[in-house]
Amino acid sequence: MTATRFVCPFCPLHCDDLEPSAGVGASSDCPILSDLGPRSFAHDRDTPPPQSSQLEQARQWVRAARTIAVTGRVIDLETARAVSRFASRTGAGLLPLVAPDDLYPEAFARDGGIGTTLGEASSPHQTVIVIGDPDPHWPRLRQRLTGAGKTYFWQGSDQIVARLARLRGELAHPKGQSTAASDGLDDADVATTHELIRDSKAVVFLIVPAAVAAEEQRLLWSTAGGLIADLNRRIRAMLLRFDASLTLRSVVAWTREAPSAGLIEPDAIGGNEPLALNGDVDLIIDMTPWGDRGTLPNGTVPRRDSGRSAAGAGPRGKRRITIGQNACGGGEGSPDVSASETSRALHLPASTPGITARSMAIRGDGSVALPLGMWAETGLPTAAEWLAKLGM
Ligand code: SF4
Repeated sequence: MTATRFVCPFCPLHCDDLEPSAGVGASSDCPILSDLGPRSFAHDRDTPPPQSSQLEQARQWVRAARTIAVTGRVIDLETARAVSRFASRTGAGLLPLVAPDDLYPEAFARDGGIGTTLGEASSPHQTVIVIGDPDPHWPRLRQRLTGAGKTYFWQGSDQIVARLARLRGELAHPKGQSTAASDGLDDADVATTHELIRDSKAVVFLIVPAAVAAEEQRLLWSTAGGLIADLNRRIRAMLLRFDASLTLRSVVAWTREAPSAGLIEPDAIGGNEPLALNGDVDLIIDMTPWGDRGTLPNGTVPRRDSGRSAAGAGPRGKRRITIGQNACGGGEGSPDVSASETSRALHLPASTPGITARSMAIRGDGSVALPLGMWAETGLPTAAEWLAKLGM
């Protein structure tokens, strides 16, 4: 497929309303795109093609490894298919680190849920309630929601689970029975949300997963799910999500042959985290399409990168291969890496999907598959080509 419009690869909104020049350096109103677009373009243009010795070394490590985990960021279909094939051939486990603290998939697998899309949420009949700060994760979300009838962003960022539970309690009272003196209505966010819901026929909740600590995630999603289920007895209520690992999850679900095929169940991606974190993995393959994952221009580093080390981010293995842009100094040729780290870390530079490699991406709400274009030439292989060679 030939892309005729620029679809941004850099977050699960996958904005498709931007000029093609935005991807290779033109100014953009999105800080993530303004940073990663030109950086990826320069990386793909200026990085010399890899030497065959790098591939040979990486293959040896794959052959020698008894346990392999593939982790990192997989945002496009070509890479996701290659990851799935590589996992089938080598028995590797999948451990995306995009948002390891987001336990919604677990809650959804257990209890189900009622989801919606960005397009539906931004319709004039919708009331959208946004909880948590979406700007560091999806900077253009506010713009994309301007078509919604009413949008309210919660002002308070603490005790979100408890306040959602209070809101649920308040809404459980039949109209007219709740009192202004009750706990929930002392809270401006709860009171405003209560009022908006009372006056609406269709409500969408968008909860930023990172707004709630990992230990509260299960409670968050069961509380939100219960609230939405309650509301659906009288109005339409839905949850809007942007799952950065949706493309990979979908491909794993489409392509797995049988539960015994060696792949981790798609809803259990991330379930082997203790294995990886305990250092029991011989080899980590870390997909780093734009290197310093999730680091925003203002220096904000989402919590997911707290396990960063000189040899790479996240889980530790005895050896690590990064594929994409150099994540944080790991791998050959990096001046910041000690000799012992170099001996266990190898970097394979790859082109960036949506900048110098064509592919497709599924928007994080699951609504559409969008074409990622090739807007400049590069001498670098794609990540999918690297994985195909490693898994031979
Ligand atoms: S909000 Fe996300 S998809 Fe849209 S331009 Fe910014 S990084 Fe790209």
